[in-house]
Amino acid sequence: MMRNTDAQVLFTPGPLNTSATVKSAMLDDIGSRTTASSELTSRICSKLLDAYAIGDAFAAIPVQGSGTFAVEAMLTSCLPATDYCIGVLVNGEYSKRMLEICEIYGLHHVPLQCDTETAIDPARVDAFLLEHPQISHLALVHFETGLGVLNDLAQLASVCERRSVQLLLDAISTFGALPIPFDSPALAAVALSANKCLHSVPGIAFVIARKAALQPSVRRSLSLDLNAQWRKLENGHQWRFTPPTHVLLAFDQALDEWAREGKAERRLDKYQQLNRHLVRRLAEQGIVPLLDAHHRAPMITTFLLPETFALSFEQLYRHLEAAQLIIYPSTYSTARSFRIGCIGELVRADIDRLADALRNVTSSSQLIEPAAHA
Ligand SMILES: *Cc1c(COP(=O)(O)O)cnc(C)c1O
Repeated sequence: MMRNTDAQVLFTPGPLNTSATVKSAMLDDIGSRTTASSELTSRICSKLLDAYAIGDAFAAIPVQGSGTFAVEAMLTSCLPATDYCIGVLVNGEYSKRMLEICEIYGLHHVPLQCDTETAIDPARVDAFLLEHPQISHLALVHFETGLGVLNDLAQLASVCERRSVQLLLDAISTFGALPIPFDSPALAAVALSANKCLHSVPGIAFVIARKAALQPSVRRSLSLDLNAQWRKLENGHQWRFTPPTHVLLAFDQALDEWAREGKAERRLDKYQQLNRHLVRRLAEQGIVPLLDAHHRAPMITTFLLPETFALSFEQLYRHLEAAQLIIYPSTYSTARSFRIGCIGELVRADIDRLADALRNVTSSSQLIEPAAHA
């Protein structure tokens, strides 16, 4: 077992369980202006570009922080000062967050509210773009992690190509596991995090941006300015502000492990195997996925608690936490539901532990207190 066995098992969409070797890679202090540090940053950026065989037209630009920092950096750094309009496709929590970013910065935008339990219909997006010819860019979340809805990226990218619209993509929960069409001329920028399918520790995110899409004359933010960050790294390999050196060391190791284990294809395959086992084990107890199989992806699944289930979500959470098993509620507010992530260094035995703990819930004597939110 590569993970510390006494640790909590995280069935959450980040932070997630990391390998012992990724954690131990952090046991080194390196100065931010040293050769070792600048080589580390440029090595990581090259590995990210190589991961999807991305050509020279793109640059990988690091951002200190979690995935949201990269999304905010992407939306504020890749739009011109004037004569643009961004269409925001909203079908879950993370695309709502993109909308909030647009509102905070006063970016010209038009939302398209879509159903949150199904993938976005490409024909509807095509009609939306025809109806709003001022839209120059489209903001899309590849996999909506709140409920676990996978949008059809290939189809949506071809709609963008057909309508000459540039795509700004949140691929935070898919980069490292699913294909991303970097060969599409519509793709302008992609936000990703070290702490999702690439299995590293939290603290760093990236935008892989088409160099031509970066706006040197537009400054909407100081610390999230991708163009300034990229120029500084290009001319002398220095970060503008304190780099998360330990986090970079961990990520360098995580990228090596990702490549050694067979890259995106193998990682997706592993998630699928874990997820199939999970769905099967929970179905035995009447706990079934909320969404139809063809709208899901194995990284995160939302499950519904059956009517007969004895506990509220809060009680269930505490019961599982006591067994070192950590889950999150789903963002689906009208039902008793929870989501289970199959990402991170998980094994089949972890899924069995979770399924067994769920089965033991009703027989546990400590849990006779009435359900608070039944
Ligand atoms: C995790 C995630 C983010 C980033 O969320 P943070 O809370 O900043 O880590 C953004 N988009 C998607 C689709 C995600 O899954």
